[in-house]
Amino acid sequence: MKIPQADPLAHIPRRAGRRLAFRVTPAAQRALRGGHPWLFDEAVTRQGAGGEPGDLAVIFDDYRGFLAIGLYDPTSPIRVRVLQHGAPATIDVAWLRDRLATALALRSGLPETGTTGFRLVHGENDGLPGLVIDRYDATLVVKLYALVWVRWLSCLLAALQEVSPSQCVVLRLSRDVSRHPEHLYGLTDGTTLAGPPPDGPVLFSENGLVFEADVVRGQKTGFFLDQRDNRARAGTLAAGRRTLDVFAYSGAFSVYAARGGAPEVLSLDSSEPALEAAGRNFAHNRHVQKVAASHHVQMAADAFAALASLRDRGQRFGLVIVDPPSFAKQQSEADRALRSYARLTALALGVLEAGGTLVVASCSSRVNAPTFFAAVNRAAEQAGRPLNEMERTGHALDHPVRFPEGAYLKCLFATAP
Ligand code: SAH
Repeated sequence: MKIPQADPLAHIPRRAGRRLAFRVTPAAQRALRGGHPWLFDEAVTRQGAGGEPGDLAVIFDDYRGFLAIGLYDPTSPIRVRVLQHGAPATIDVAWLRDRLATALALRSGLPETGTTGFRLVHGENDGLPGLVIDRYDATLVVKLYALVWVRWLSCLLAALQEVSPSQCVVLRLSRDVSRHPEHLYGLTDGTTLAGPPPDGPVLFSENGLVFEADVVRGQKTGFFLDQRDNRARAGTLAAGRRTLDVFAYSGAFSVYAARGGAPEVLSLDSSEPALEAAGRNFAHNRHVQKVAASHHVQMAADAFAALASLRDRGQRFGLVIVDPPSFAKQQSEADRALRSYARLTALALGVLEAGGTLVVASCSSRVNAPTFFAAVNRAAEQAGRPLNEMERTGHALDHPVRFPEGAYLKCLFATAP
């Protein structure tokens, strides 16, 4: 075990007690009354002077009535992230503790499903905008998608220790947040905030299977927890079926398919380190007879090229899972993302046996569910293999959706003739 560092929060200045007052457009007033968690810069009509990321911001209506309190961010077009609507609040450790306790209560059923890795806080959807907290057994990962939390970290750690104690807390920073070292006071992506730094990947359980997460360097916070329910569903469809897991990352869908009785599983991803983790995730579950009996093959390649080459070599699978990364980071990329989903659907059908099962997911919030499902179905029709839909799914319970922009995950289960 590594030695804990000196206090990583030592250089963060104390928050000034000030609250910045905001006046906003009528449209923004309506949105805030409706509970929307964001105030955009262009909707601000008047603002108190000064301010640092994380300062408290109070938003008023045209009659000086209180609308919302939130956290100010001069570096982002989302100028204020709302913590509370409708009634003033003192934002402090006790307030954070209440929000965390509410979030934890929503997830209280997970441990009895053999799950010790789950999302404890899902940002805006749990009333803590720009903040994600994932638990991997005794390790917590705090991921900041907004700078506003930097100066609240010590309060947050105190509240977390009360509500959901852990041995170690690791900080992860989104790309946008990492771009502002001037507001990070020496914090970097992967800094250990509390407890001894992890000395390797962290082990945790999901539906009784054991997985590892590289919480310091892995994608997101180390694992794609949002796909848990879809993985479980895919596992029930794998018996006797040679399975292809496209965009496999650390092979989570692959391990479920193996437990479900797939005699052979091919994990395909462009990332070598992710595939090495996939190999280890199979090893972590060797005690499960069907996982041990399944033949696991790793393939490091571009998914588009590899699917075409597998097809041309006559390789066929009874279950094909396609879980690509978000193709649209902004609205202008939505059309291109749809074309990629269509291409992937056609390519996946090229390697799917007649009567086989296809699972296609999308995590692009810029592509809405009806548009995504329509694009996948259209591509299958054009390929001459119209889908028989089994189920359309969305978010697992630890990824609640509380505002329109919070919905991003959709997944289609279907068979093809
Ligand atoms: N299915 C995974 C999560 C997938 S995340 C799970 O359940 O855990 C998306 C993955 O796509 C990442 O691992 C990334 O390395 C991979 N990826 C991105 N672009 C790719 C490409 N062009 N070809 C193959 N893999 C790619």
